[in-house]
Amino acid sequence: MKLTTNFIKVDTKYIFVTGGVVSSLGKGIISSSLARLLLSRGFRVTIQKFDPYINIDPGTLNPYEHGECYVTVDGHEADLDLGHYERFTNIHTTRANNITTGRIYQSVIDKERRGDYLGKTVQIIPHITDEIKRNVKILGNTGKYDFVITEIGGTVGDIESLPFIESVRQLRWELGQNCVCIHLTYVPYIRAAKELKTKPTQHSVKQLQEVGIQPDILVLRTEKDIPADMRRKVAQFCNVAPEAVIQSIDVPTIYEVPIKMHEQKLDELVLRKTNTPFSGEPDMTKWNQFLSLLNSTKDTVKIGLVGKYVELQDAYKSINESLFQAATYQSHKLDLRYISSEKLNDGNVEELLKDLNGVIIAPGFGQRGIEGKFVALKWCRENDMPTFGICLGMQCMVIEYARNVLGLKEANSTEMDTKTPYNVIDLMEEQKSISNLGGTMRLGAYQCHLADDSKVAKAYGKLDIEERHRHRFEFNNEYRTQFENAGMKCVGENPETHLVEVVEIPEKKWFIGTQYHPEYSSTVLNPNPLFIDFIKAAITNK
Ligand code: GLN
Repeated sequence: MKLTTNFIKVDTKYIFVTGGVVSSLGKGIISSSLARLLLSRGFRVTIQKFDPYINIDPGTLNPYEHGECYVTVDGHEADLDLGHYERFTNIHTTRANNITTGRIYQSVIDKERRGDYLGKTVQIIPHITDEIKRNVKILGNTGKYDFVITEIGGTVGDIESLPFIESVRQLRWELGQNCVCIHLTYVPYIRAAKELKTKPTQHSVKQLQEVGIQPDILVLRTEKDIPADMRRKVAQFCNVAPEAVIQSIDVPTIYEVPIKMHEQKLDELVLRKTNTPFSGEPDMTKWNQFLSLLNSTKDTVKIGLVGKYVELQDAYKSINESLFQAATYQSHKLDLRYISSEKLNDGNVEELLKDLNGVIIAPGFGQRGIEGKFVALKWCRENDMPTFGICLGMQCMVIEYARNVLGLKEANSTEMDTKTPYNVIDLMEEQKSISNLGGTMRLGAYQCHLADDSKVAKAYGKLDIEERHRHRFEFNNEYRTQFENAGMKCVGENPETHLVEVVEIPEKKWFIGTQYHPEYSSTVLNPNPLFIDFIKAAITNK
């Protein structure tokens, strides 16, 4: 399809990002950084992630398996890398940006049952690989993008990623110069020998070559600067141009990676390899403003995050990043402390919370750690600590208030206690007939109307907002008057269903709970106003 970019006709270009040696090298950050640079040059870019696992989506995965489950505006439960894509690019992703082996197989099997294969034997090659290729091109075929960056999850050499790698090989052959393969590897530093080692990289590239892919660009993750001669050696042994061996050295914040990549001309390499006409430099003015704010912060704001996955930072990835962005925009360093809700009790709550400037009560599912959240909330409410409850955190705010202010001692969510006499949080009506767990929650962006005298409305600077959801339970409107009379106001509701989306105690400094997840919409260039307002309140509270 012919597109117009910078007034010159070009084809959609496909960039594939694979990884080798070990996982967790940051393919998502490299993909996002490249996207940022190309966008800042005026190109239209999207990023998609292909995950080799068999789950249809990560929605049913527990955070120990795969970190946070991110939610797109169109209600897809997605890999957390899509959160990075949005935070870097400031562009919404959708269901089409995250494909798993499960979805590929499901679609092939559906076609087989319909008889679409006309009696043929259905095989991994060509049927699964064709379906992967079709999915790779869906966004490109819309004509909306000049560049489609595709990150392949997992590590080259994994059995489960083979059909994806084979599809990349075929696409590369079909697309010719409209395709670039970037391979990310690891260069370990062996402390005892005081040496960087490139052998794992060489092996990983060999593995890729064995399946028919010659990478165009190598990005080497490293803790230490890789000397030029060592990079040359990698280039020579891996059949890559010397200038196409780039290092990605550890930096204090992931938001510096686009700058580091640009210094080594990653964007230019991609543009040249795809024969894309370009001139000048990417306009990174706003991005650099954010980075200079970050580098000039002197004061620190201390936030406590009360949740049950304290040892697993990826579980609350988007909340961490939203807090970090908001603190930076308020010229503060973020000191984020994880407080295990399972360990909180009346005896230690004061000790654990008193030095903080603000507290987040985390989202979640199930009973584990729930009582600790009530303990934290009671202390925060009674001590007027700026407090932000998100999803389950908001539901806990409501339950704690019911128990300790309304005097409804056994108040609960029916998620935790189906027989509670005071079901202040209850299953949504449309959820009552649902038995499958996958993809069946209230998901994606919904409208919310805010009360005009509320703190939330002031924070957003408008009365009608849209934020993303992921939940089955809701505030029980039968109790609304009782709560409002006592001082907890329902200040945000869905205009169609009247579901309560925001609660607030106006007499407190900042005590707000949202049924939605504002963290999913916070990006570097467009930080979420509610996080900004919460951080402001926390700073004032110092
Ligand atoms: N478990 C709660 C519900 O399903 C809250 C979900 C969440 O925090 N994302 O309603």
